[in-house]
Amino acid sequence: MSGVDWEEDDPFEEQRDKIENPMKRLFVEYGRDYAPQVTVGVLASVFARLLDLLPPLMLGIALDAIFRSDGEAQFSEQIPLVVLPDAWLPTAQVDQFWFTIAVLAGAFLFGAGFHWVRNWGFNAFAQNIQHDVRTDTYDQMQRLNMDFFSDKQTGEMMSILSNDVNRLERFLNDGMNSVFRLSVMVVGISVLLFWINWQLALVALLPVPVIAGFTYLFIKIIQPKYAEVRSTVGKMNSRLENNLGGIQVIKAANTESYESERVDDVSFDYFDANWDAIETRIKFFPALRVLAGIGFVLTFIVGGLWVFQGPPGPFTGELSEGMFVVFILYTQRFIWPMAQFGQIINMYQRARASSARIFGLMDEPSKLAEDRDAEELAVDEGEVVYDDVSFGYDDETIVEDVDFEVEGGETLALVGPTGAGKSTVLKLLLRMYDVDDGEIRIDGQNVSDVTLRSLRRSIGYVGQSSYLFYGTVRENITYGTFDATDEEVREAAEAAEAHDFIENLPDGYDTMVGERGVKLSGGQRQRITIARAVLTDPDILILDEATSDVDTETEMLIQRSLDRLTTDRTTFAIAHRLSTIKDADTILVLEGGKIAERGTHDELLDNDGLYAHLWGVQAGEIDELPQEFIDRAQERTARIVEDAESDDD
Ligand code: ADP
Repeated sequence: MSGVDWEEDDPFEEQRDKIENPMKRLFVEYGRDYAPQVTVGVLASVFARLLDLLPPLMLGIALDAIFRSDGEAQFSEQIPLVVLPDAWLPTAQVDQFWFTIAVLAGAFLFGAGFHWVRNWGFNAFAQNIQHDVRTDTYDQMQRLNMDFFSDKQTGEMMSILSNDVNRLERFLNDGMNSVFRLSVMVVGISVLLFWINWQLALVALLPVPVIAGFTYLFIKIIQPKYAEVRSTVGKMNSRLENNLGGIQVIKAANTESYESERVDDVSFDYFDANWDAIETRIKFFPALRVLAGIGFVLTFIVGGLWVFQGPPGPFTGELSEGMFVVFILYTQRFIWPMAQFGQIINMYQRARASSARIFGLMDEPSKLAEDRDAEELAVDEGEVVYDDVSFGYDDETIVEDVDFEVEGGETLALVGPTGAGKSTVLKLLLRMYDVDDGEIRIDGQNVSDVTLRSLRRSIGYVGQSSYLFYGTVRENITYGTFDATDEEVREAAEAAEAHDFIENLPDGYDTMVGERGVKLSGGQRQRITIARAVLTDPDILILDEATSDVDTETEMLIQRSLDRLTTDRTTFAIAHRLSTIKDADTILVLEGGKIAERGTHDELLDNDGLYAHLWGVQAGEIDELPQEFIDRAQERTARIVEDAESDDD
């Protein structure tokens, strides 16, 4: 996913910093439901590992009992290790041999069963939590304010939903599995070794503290290197994503070699960081091998001498050949788990960071919280009143003292230069954002006091870029009105002048469209969106430059369908092409977030202000705007550029 540096510009940082123990929270909030699965997994894991430890021990016992001449006494002396009463144990050598085989076969068979159950338990635990966390995070994400959906943050949210959630799953499955495996191995083997011969056990375990210290040091050194790798891979992905998205510009501007160089640079940074980490890692494992080897050789020397000559040096007691073999086999198995603890700690820390990110998003309060006693919006006439409304996305005021009234069923048009705040004014009606000052009322009800569901159900929106979901044409038309019949869909499509072209698509209403589907033209997509709005039959309609980006012929078709749609419905229309809104009941001219002029088309022409001049230019009556308007436009553009630059800092 897109390379995201969490340290920079992180939208959820504030919430994340408040989370004290994300892993505990994960287990309490999400793990609890799957406690049976994980308990089964843990128990099976412990049994499976204990059975894994049995074969070397049995081998040692068998060596002593069966292959030594004084075997009989040995077997029953040592078998209590495996907690069977003496009376059950065979005494004849041949029987002992078969008994050993039976125990080994049983250990393998039951071991396999336990491994199966263990895998089932841990996987069920991890997959279920992964699913729950992902769906909860997504639900929460949908509730967030629109502020969060600017480009960069969409990348971050995608990253949380995929990378972080996956990383949790990896820890909950592989990581936890390893924790139990390694714990049982380390504890189990230590106990057995000490029990068989505590003196030799001390020798065998001598390298353990050294290995532990060495591993700790390795983690300390490697972690910042891994962080660097992640950061460089993030930057590289961002660059690649960016370039793929902008490939058309790159080709048109002939900047292929320039871009190749930039990709080369970021790729080399990644290579460099990776190589640095690899160099450390490839030194660690051979060094560990040497340490483990020293321990092994030491055990071999002391144990070997012990078997030959009796206890060497300060040691006392007896060591049989069989038990010597057990020591050798166990010491071998013991060292590697120690080295793997490093990896598990690493996995844990990553999972911890990921859950902090996930909970950071989940804890982000939705600023548009509904009152508990919010009522359903009941639209009767459809009268809309803006009462001295002011609003800014950040500190800067974008919309200032906007004040107007639209009678039910009338059409209000918003015109004005780009950036004047036209879309913003209407986003406030949809309550994508809350007003800073003033009030917006629909039939006397403040939009902040009603439920978001009822508000948005009453308002239809047809925007300039009509987004189609991947699915059939029918699904796209019925989106939001899922229970519509085929007949209703068809009528809506006819009203939107879309039926004819839909019939001509390869599969008619069942043609797949949207991303990965059949590519439709802007005008066709637009008409499908209009059909959707017709079907929803909203009380209030917003047309946000609904006829930009289409040719004149299509515009006429769309205009016809829109006229049908807007009759008797309170309608807000934003348009650059003034011809499309000249019949509106009221036209508001916005400039710099304020209402500069208002009236009907004829009144505004008489007024001889910005509207009259824009009309003149568009109708071909005058060649260009008077200098005064051009100066103002230039000033505005300069301000927008300045803002953009200061945003980049
Ligand atoms: P119009 O529809 O008239 O072109 P907009 O309402 O889209 O104008 O934008 C008005 C101003 O608000 C512009 O300066 C724009 O940069 C700014 N703006 C729009 N959306 C956002 C946003 N999500 N966050 C911050 N500023 C925004």
